[in-house]
Amino acid sequence: MPESVGSPAVRPEVLGFKPYVAGRAIEEIQQEYGLTQVVKLASNENPLGTSPRVLRVLRDRAELAFRYPQSGNPRLVQAIADHTHVRPERIVAGNGSDEIIDLIIRVKAVPGRDNICTFRPCFAMYELQAKLCGVEFRQTPLNDDMSFPWDAWIDSMDENTAVAFLTSPDNPSGFTVKADELAEIARRVAKAAPNALLVMDEAYIDFCRPLNSYSLVDRLDEFPNVGILRTFSKMYGLAGLRLGYGILPPEIADFCRRVKPPFSVNLLAEEAGIEALRDTAFIEQTYRVTAEGREYLNRELSDLGFGVHPSLANFLLVRLTKGLPVVGTDAAALVEKLLAKGVIVRPLSSGYDMPDCVRVSVGNPEENSFFIARLKEILANG
Ligand SMILES: *Cc1c(COP(=O)(O)O)cnc(C)c1O
Repeated sequence: MPESVGSPAVRPEVLGFKPYVAGRAIEEIQQEYGLTQVVKLASNENPLGTSPRVLRVLRDRAELAFRYPQSGNPRLVQAIADHTHVRPERIVAGNGSDEIIDLIIRVKAVPGRDNICTFRPCFAMYELQAKLCGVEFRQTPLNDDMSFPWDAWIDSMDENTAVAFLTSPDNPSGFTVKADELAEIARRVAKAAPNALLVMDEAYIDFCRPLNSYSLVDRLDEFPNVGILRTFSKMYGLAGLRLGYGILPPEIADFCRRVKPPFSVNLLAEEAGIEALRDTAFIEQTYRVTAEGREYLNRELSDLGFGVHPSLANFLLVRLTKGLPVVGTDAAALVEKLLAKGVIVRPLSSGYDMPDCVRVSVGNPEENSFFIARLKEILANG
């Protein structure tokens, strides 16, 4: 007998697959609620938009859209190597760091034998790609204050652990680990899981200064089991072009390059990435606007009675508390009321399992005060 009637002939991993739930789009909310002004604080995008210098390059190069990019994106890889002070052999550019996550899992993990270890909650893509590959996915619950339970995590690993994902600054909490602690963890992981690549997802590391206090990027030669993920989607303002990279042990990087679809980083993304690395003024401005906006949101939200987790990233994990008028601890109700008033924040019920929390990206000053004003209306009038 073939599969039972009505069950399509696809892999079992695909049959029950729950897709990624993205932050909702501005256009979608405008249509659904009949609004003209909608502020999106849901996907940790750059509050200043796209760098004007990058925009100029994109316009100049648009006519090259008919060309294939150069396979392996050597100019971009060299620019990233210069920027990170890392040898180009270590660098793999991808269609967002999401592609590097997928590549690492497929290069490292053997379905049915290996496992992947991370935390709960964590960034959703690790689990989606692990499940799609049919690889066992082990999660250790975070401590109540969203810090990492190191001992329990390391206890969850063994000789079949192929990848261990550690996100710092963490998403959705903003919790950030110091470099010295990361170094100690890397040594412990090497002992507990000798075959594992310890992947430090640094999607938000550009918001942490000084960098060396929070990243092992300058010490990778000491840690042959460590890889780093970076993205142009957050600080660099290129989420829509899809560009990220891995800084990996050279032999892993080599395998990733071999199996990667050759043109997954498109020609305009490559040009934009090179220019974005040069535009240091835009990065400085983003850093300042984000730090000031985070401070403002933190103060206002705390004054209103929300619990705000400390964050070095461009977003805040906001916990609803029993004493709040109208919404209490019902984050879904708050998200819905904000949508009706033209503010998109990120609910954390599905996937993250935090029904009393929302994640709020730091916007520009106008967006931040629009959000706080609508929030005050909701708490005052329902
Ligand atoms: C946003 C994000 C990424 C990656 O994004 P890409 O747009 O695919 O580069 C990776 N990890 C974490 C934790 C993120 O929040």
